[in-house]
Amino acid sequence: MDQCASPGLLDFHTALTQLTQQVPLLCGEESVELSDLLGRITAQAIVSPINVPAFDNSAMDGYAFNAASLEGDTLTIRGSVLAGDYDDLPLQPGECVRIMTGAPIPPNADTVVMQENTETTDNVVRILKYKASSNIRRAGEDIKQGETAIPAGHQLKTADIGRLASLGIASAMVRTRLKVALLSTGDELTQPGTPLAPGAIYDSNRFALHAMLSKLPIELFDLGVIKDDYHAIRDAYVHASELADIIICSGGVSVGDADYTKTVLDELGKVAFWKLAMKPGKPFAYGPIGDSHFIGLPGNPVSAIVTFYQLAMPMLASAMGWDRPSPTSLKVKAGCAIRKSPGRTDFQRGILGCDEDGNPVVTTTGAQGSGVFSSLSDANCFIVLERERGAVAKGERVNVEMFRAPLV
Ligand code: AMP
Ligand code: MG
Repeated sequence: MDQCASPGLLDFHTALTQLTQQVPLLCGEESVELSDLLGRITAQAIVSPINVPAFDNSAMDGYAFNAASLEGDTLTIRGSVLAGDYDDLPLQPGECVRIMTGAPIPPNADTVVMQENTETTDNVVRILKYKASSNIRRAGEDIKQGETAIPAGHQLKTADIGRLASLGIASAMVRTRLKVALLSTGDELTQPGTPLAPGAIYDSNRFALHAMLSKLPIELFDLGVIKDDYHAIRDAYVHASELADIIICSGGVSVGDADYTKTVLDELGKVAFWKLAMKPGKPFAYGPIGDSHFIGLPGNPVSAIVTFYQLAMPMLASAMGWDRPSPTSLKVKAGCAIRKSPGRTDFQRGILGCDEDGNPVVTTTGAQGSGVFSSLSDANCFIVLERERGAVAKGERVNVEMFRAPLV
């Protein structure tokens, strides 16, 4: 490792491993109704109680018949079966039934001919063309009774909700909501909607972090802005540790004169202050306060969001028992030169698009300062540049990691 280029900085991947290993599973299990399951994390594998489909049924509107007993090209229409009907009378030779999509296949029928390939006169149908055994959806072809439909540790998406309903499942065991406290520190922080005093800035971190946290199956305690004051910070951290499993705080983790966080945390718990070999986002704090886990993010807005997403999110996922899939990563050509010095893993904000031949190409969003919000809001991906890598020439291949929830 090139420690010479960045002495004393903790490698990003080392920090990530340490963070995810330090935090145990902090959530229990609860039964939740189907209509409230979206976004929740399964605590146990969900097994199908039935075959889906439950019975052989028609994939087309047409005529069901037995191909082996077809003589010539005409059949007598015995009756019709609609979705929801049930006809258990076996077909006689020379008979067929008119059948609609989703309707059960009558006993001993093995083929459905689509109506576009037939001609009908009164109760006789002429079959113009067909393929034996076609257009039947077999019982259990989607999932069989007793098979795992959804594994444990999976976050339930919209399609999963439909799938559970298709299995007749009305509730499932999921992880209880992780309790997360959120706060910002800084005398300069002002609420959006109120005028800015000289030297003040708006508290953007808390709103961006709140928005991301709102996308997760957690219980959020937004504790607002805490002044750079020893007693205020101490009271806020004690209160947060009583409320929450995880405390997320931005600002005050460097070593400025108003950074009381370190003093307070040294008293309350064993919080480690890290300087990360990561850009954006050098200062970062982590450690327990009582039974809670404290994460101190850098104050600069882009650093706060990127470190939350890249480091805190994997830790939150382990705490809530979420087997979060890896992000979509690809190697593509850089469409512009990219500035970079060796020494820190760089998460530049990029736009993945196509060149004139339709090949993927990525460009940066321009100025990449840790306070430049547009670098994030204009982007759809990270350009992840390895720690030891230097400047990138246009046309070189780079690693791209697509944005996903909770960043988008
Ligand atoms: P700090 O880590 O507290 O020294 O803050 C580093 C920089 O980030 C300073 O320029 C702060 O004004 C800025 N900053 C800290 N907290 C926030 C916040 N919640 N929203 C926007 N900027 C912030
Ligand atoms: Mg500060």
